[in-house]
Amino acid sequence: MAFIHIPPAVLPPECEELREEVRAFLSKEMPHHRQKKEAAFSFFDPAFSRKLGERGWLGMTWPKQYGGHERSFLERYVVLEELLAVDAPIAAHWVADRQSGDQLIRFGTEEMRTTIVPGIARGEVYFCVGMSEPDAGSDLAGIRSRAERVPEGWRLNGTKIWNSAHHAHYMIALVRTQPAGDSRHAGLSQLLIDLTTPGITIRPILNLRGYVNFNEVHFNDVILPADCLLGKEGAGWKQVSTELGFERSGPERYLSSIELLMQMLNSASPDNERQAVALGRLVCEARTLRRMSIGLTAMFVRREDPGVISAMVKDMGTTFEQRIPEMAAELFDVELGDPASPLAQLAAITIQNAPSFSLRGGSREVLRGMIAKGMGLR
Ligand SMILES: Cc1cc2nc3c(=O)[nH]c(=O)nc-3n(C[C@H](O)[C@H](O)[C@H](O)COP(=O)(O)OP(=O)(O)OC[C@H]3O[C@@H](n4cnc5c(N)ncnc54)[C@H](O)[C@@H]3O)c2cc1C
Repeated sequence: MAFIHIPPAVLPPECEELREEVRAFLSKEMPHHRQKKEAAFSFFDPAFSRKLGERGWLGMTWPKQYGGHERSFLERYVVLEELLAVDAPIAAHWVADRQSGDQLIRFGTEEMRTTIVPGIARGEVYFCVGMSEPDAGSDLAGIRSRAERVPEGWRLNGTKIWNSAHHAHYMIALVRTQPAGDSRHAGLSQLLIDLTTPGITIRPILNLRGYVNFNEVHFNDVILPADCLLGKEGAGWKQVSTELGFERSGPERYLSSIELLMQMLNSASPDNERQAVALGRLVCEARTLRRMSIGLTAMFVRREDPGVISAMVKDMGTTFEQRIPEMAAELFDVELGDPASPLAQLAAITIQNAPSFSLRGGSREVLRGMIAKGMGLR
């Protein structure tokens, strides 16, 4: 069937040269970050982000006039692969570089593009995603945060949840600015929110492992300037769909457990056939997913619409990355979390992080619903 065809893509030679540069940089930088406590997306290190900015590895595909580097999506892909493979501390800039900067370039005012976007590319300005609410995650159109026009600009009330506001300077929030009418997708808008604005309370949420990854952010009669509107009023749903496309298509959707897989390969006994067969399968799967993921990125480069392919690759990728810690527990005779065993420690951390892999960026069931619809099955 044509819609699940991903034309194979090969990384051009300049990508492999860039990979060597990134590896050389990381081999110097990463020894300082070896103490693994959390997933890479949670390692917040502004100095590291600034170093990436200095090397031109943030905002890589953006126009030079806004501080970007006009490089290809495939070059950016290679930089991401290398950062994720070593679990680099990317939390500070991750959201801003992956999606917020693009949203500002596409839908923001010229002032936002010239004053904020260059700071993102330097690794100095950080963003969080303001989509989910306490009663609206999968059912995103059910959000209740509301902004109304007032003489000073907009007055915002509501709550956003599961975001990284504790590390961010700004949030791009999806809010209701007009009544829904016939379609709940109508009347939604995206606003750029400076998180230091009075009336905003950020309450941390501890995750399963006892760390703060997330927050609940309350907006209580927050007054925002009139020019905080991104794009057109009422076009928020369409704009958010574009943003989610960036969120679902990257290599982070199958590489979350890759460090554990490498640790498993290093710990396997040469004469253990069960380990050899299972690890061989996982490596083949990783290779296939990588080819699909690169093929998908190449489709973006050619400006082709991947349709449901992004959702499919994300679903397969997260299933893969969730299976790796399960296989570690099954194949190796270690006590999970044993401080004497790096494998056991990494496996324990990955098992605890794994449930989130198939929730973030759209849950498995919801993506499968989209895939079924795209395939004409419902
Ligand atoms: C690590 C991580 C990072 C995140 N980062 C952000 C962020 O930065 N900003 C942000 O706004 N949000 C963020 N989220 C929130 C994320 O987008 C939501 O958790 C996700 O969309 C699911 O929404 P929910 O948690 O409200 O669960 P619900 O929507 O209540 O879903 C609960 C369960 O029901 C299932 N379900 C729901 N509807 C259906 C349906 N129609 N058919 C079948 N099954 C269904 C879901 O698949 C899920 O298993 C993050 C989440 C995680 C785990």
